[in-house]
Amino acid sequence: MALLSFYGAVEGVTGSCYLLETGSTRLLLDCGLYQGGREAEAANKQAFPFDMQSLDAVVLSHAHLDHSGRLPLLVAQGYSGPIYMTSPTCDLILVLLKDAASLQQRDAEWENKHRRRAGEPEQQPLFTLEDVEQTMDCCLGAVYGKRFPVADNVDIRFLEAGHILGSAIVELYVREDGREKKLVFSGDLGNSQAALLRDPSRVSEADVVLLESTYGDREHRSMDATLEEFETIVAGASKSGGNVLIPSFAVGRTQEIIFRLGELYQKGLLRQQAVFLDSPMAIAVTEIYHRYQDVFNLEDRALIQGQHKHRSLHNLLPNLYYAVSTEDSMALNRLEKGAIIIAGSGMCNGGRIRHHFRHNLWRKEAHVVFVGYQAIGTPGRALVDGAKTFRVGGEDIAVRAQIHTVGGFSAHAGQSQLVEWLRGFTDPRPRLLLVHGEDEAKRALQQAVAREGWDADIPTLGQTIEF
Ligand SMILES: [Zn+2]
Repeated sequence: MALLSFYGAVEGVTGSCYLLETGSTRLLLDCGLYQGGREAEAANKQAFPFDMQSLDAVVLSHAHLDHSGRLPLLVAQGYSGPIYMTSPTCDLILVLLKDAASLQQRDAEWENKHRRRAGEPEQQPLFTLEDVEQTMDCCLGAVYGKRFPVADNVDIRFLEAGHILGSAIVELYVREDGREKKLVFSGDLGNSQAALLRDPSRVSEADVVLLESTYGDREHRSMDATLEEFETIVAGASKSGGNVLIPSFAVGRTQEIIFRLGELYQKGLLRQQAVFLDSPMAIAVTEIYHRYQDVFNLEDRALIQGQHKHRSLHNLLPNLYYAVSTEDSMALNRLEKGAIIIAGSGMCNGGRIRHHFRHNLWRKEAHVVFVGYQAIGTPGRALVDGAKTFRVGGEDIAVRAQIHTVGGFSAHAGQSQLVEWLRGFTDPRPRLLLVHGEDEAKRALQQAVAREGWDADIPTLGQTIEF
């Protein structure tokens, strides 16, 4: 008998963490950060609800921090065993965890300045760059499609999840009492309409399936309609003459937008003189995407290569420029028109996009295009909701630029795509557990799969099931 316990991404979408136990083996699946506000910060600081010293291995589905972000904490607290993931994930988490550590160190220094003055005890950052380096020593990159042992009686296999570069569906084969049981963890499943990556792999057999349900209650707009809208905005912006600012997330969305702008360029539909990628992290990630193009879908790979010897998104979009240094970025402030600037952060609560806002938001010919989800309470959301001013470095900037929201670029499968993926399983149907979703999304997906004749369970935090 094997036991599976739910320690995160149960009430919501962050903090992904599951523990698999057999008679002789203990294995952790994901070790994600809780994200969003003070409550999440407190949850991240809590002790792990299991004994980490006796873990045999950790398996990571993909690089996003809500799946990987507490790994340095695990290592800092004494875990020194292997952490398995795909090779691209290994490259990506180095960038993401280092960035997270720097932010946490900076936040802690800022907070401690006040605390010292108030005579309060100092606060430690959640983890440091040294913790990240130690974590990377434990990381082992694997290829897709190959089954290999991670413990005495457990093998795993990574399959394409199509969500971000390196993202994987994890198959776990557990042998006990002369029998083999199979647990399939969907990880985050990608949107099959998105560019670059392959569609999520179909799986046909399992005893237990853990399925994400981020968009369990929603369908995405069609990609054709989304691209048409995007093209219209970019063309309109070229006519009005202002710059186009695209706040973007470093992993996945940025590369998709570059690819889509490249498609427009190749069709002669991109009139802007230059596209600037103004984010050191997004540049580093784009270069990792370049390194692993063998996992892209064939069609997009061919398009990117074209007649060139090497495959690079620059082939598709020759007027793409990287702004690496702060000086490069500041030079862009002098551009008054004709440029597209992609900069982080995605929800505008930090990063270089804020400086571009200072120089462009007050111009009525400028355009801001949101291509990703804006959480409630973020500066990005305020702009989407029609804020009249935007505060940057103590200065209120009038919002006269045109603000657009293009909703169809999603890295997650919508409801019908999730259901379609489940249809890949043959009889006897596996036991289905819905995780990684808000309550409403999970309930809606539960009803959708019930219409297919499946009973899905929704586990609660701390619950353990046997299989
Ligand atoms: Zn993800």
